[in-house]
Amino acid sequence: MGAGPTLKRIDPNLMALAYAIHSQMLQAADQIARAIGQDNVSYDTDVLEHHGHSDWSTSNSPVRAAAVVYPRTTADVSAIARICNALSVPMVPFGAGSSVEGNFSQPHSGICIDFSHMDQIIAFHPDDMDVVVQPGVNWVDLNRHIAHAGLFAPLDPSPTATIGGMVSTNCSGTNAMRYGTMKDWVLNLTVVLADGTVIKTRRRPRKTSAGYNLTSLFVGAEGTLGIVTEATLKLAPIPQDTSVAVVAFGSIRDAAAAASELIRSGIQLAALELMDDVQMRILNEHGSEAVRRRKWEEKPTLFVKFSGTTDGIKSDAARVGEIIRGSAQLHFAKSKQEEQDLWAARKEALFTMVNIRPRGTEIWSTDVAVPVSRLAEIIDLSKRECGQLGIFASVIGHVGDGNFHVAMMYDPRDEEQKRAVARCVHNMMSRALEMEGTVSGEHAIGIGKKDCLVDELGQDTIGLMRTVKRAVDPKWVMNPGKVFDR
Ligand SMILES: Cc1cc2nc3c(=O)[nH]c(=O)nc-3n(C[C@H](O)[C@H](O)[C@H](O)COP(=O)(O)OP(=O)(O)OC[C@H]3O[C@@H](n4cnc5c(N)ncnc54)[C@H](O)[C@@H]3O)c2cc1C
Repeated sequence: MGAGPTLKRIDPNLMALAYAIHSQMLQAADQIARAIGQDNVSYDTDVLEHHGHSDWSTSNSPVRAAAVVYPRTTADVSAIARICNALSVPMVPFGAGSSVEGNFSQPHSGICIDFSHMDQIIAFHPDDMDVVVQPGVNWVDLNRHIAHAGLFAPLDPSPTATIGGMVSTNCSGTNAMRYGTMKDWVLNLTVVLADGTVIKTRRRPRKTSAGYNLTSLFVGAEGTLGIVTEATLKLAPIPQDTSVAVVAFGSIRDAAAAASELIRSGIQLAALELMDDVQMRILNEHGSEAVRRRKWEEKPTLFVKFSGTTDGIKSDAARVGEIIRGSAQLHFAKSKQEEQDLWAARKEALFTMVNIRPRGTEIWSTDVAVPVSRLAEIIDLSKRECGQLGIFASVIGHVGDGNFHVAMMYDPRDEEQKRAVARCVHNMMSRALEMEGTVSGEHAIGIGKKDCLVDELGQDTIGLMRTVKRAVDPKWVMNPGKVFDR
């Protein structure tokens, strides 16, 4: 790995890229306004700022888009792409802006494409257990809308996230232990390519072995290969019953070791989440009223979610109890209300942390994933190292699939502190790679982890990705500056 992540990267290839200048970008926006309607284009400074910066991220670019445009149909998106491609104007898709690695930032300016007007459920096929949606559909709304049919889309990133962004980051969340990640739930995609061509990656059956798997090419591509304008998603049956248990441990290593043992036991848990002592203290001090009904032990805690039939859950819970027995005391929810309150503690954690952030500090939140057998070791080492920085630093994670996150709050004006945080993140990435892990379990690469991706995959693999990118986007106008450089 190179010199380690820096806080605000300057793209080394910036000078070599031949993009339109600002006035030409405005001309493109003007042409787009004529194609899709004046009301669907904004130059408002606050709007540009909102679409160019994330409070959740350290990997922000100082550059903003020249305009934000709001298509309503695939044909609108195709018109936008044709105009931008002809004038060499970068296009950056924007869902809800909840990604955290600078994925939707605009280091080369250009046109930001906001999908909030493409938020329709196009077709719901309960008998086939799938749904066709526009990219701006929010996953919480989708699940609310289809719940009556006993089905749900089992991905759970930020509650604000939209299907287009979720597909493009190959997101997951607490449900991934049981249900896998976004790539496992996408049947087909309608995609607008850089020159405006509209393609559909495959048809709607559950399986096919017809041709290249182009669907997977676009899942996780962060909008660098094409713009998703429709997605057909598989759906899962809502489990008959669920339950939650929590268990506190004396050390983070013990908690992570117990998590590894539970994973290897083969018990089909719905989720297995870890929160460290820092997070648990925050819950006691700043959690919502529901969460503060309980006095939490301020120790590393596993949150275990069960799902299935009521009898199945009883049997799974008994087996989990046997595995944990001796090392710690499991507490099972005694009512549906308590189950909700216990799980709310895990779900609220990140929001609570950001809300209590000292004024002027920034958050550096990052994730890695490793083979399960190395989980306890990497969490222990990472927690120790970031704990020594003398700043707010906390470990939280979807440990059920070997994925964990570290969040640190630092003062961006304090250069020494920034360097120390960067070093800590860099060491965590290096450790994950030494353990045959990945530098990004679920947040994708964005601008924040480009160097690390080279370390993870090597130049030849990145070289093939570059060849694919050039083939579909020869002018390199689709979300440039992300994933890897030209
Ligand atoms: C509180 C919080 C909790 C989170 N928890 C999780 C978690 O548990 N698991 C997880 O995986 N992530 C999590 N995230 C990260 C984030 O929610 C996910 O990355 C999510 O998938 C982003 O969706 P979005 O709609 O906000 O996309 P955006 O952030 O708007 O965009 C993400 C990327 O997708 C591209 N894009 C957007 N729409 C399209 C489109 N139509 N076509 C092509 N490209 C497109 C963008 O250009 C960008 O590169 C969390 C974030 C927050 C703030």
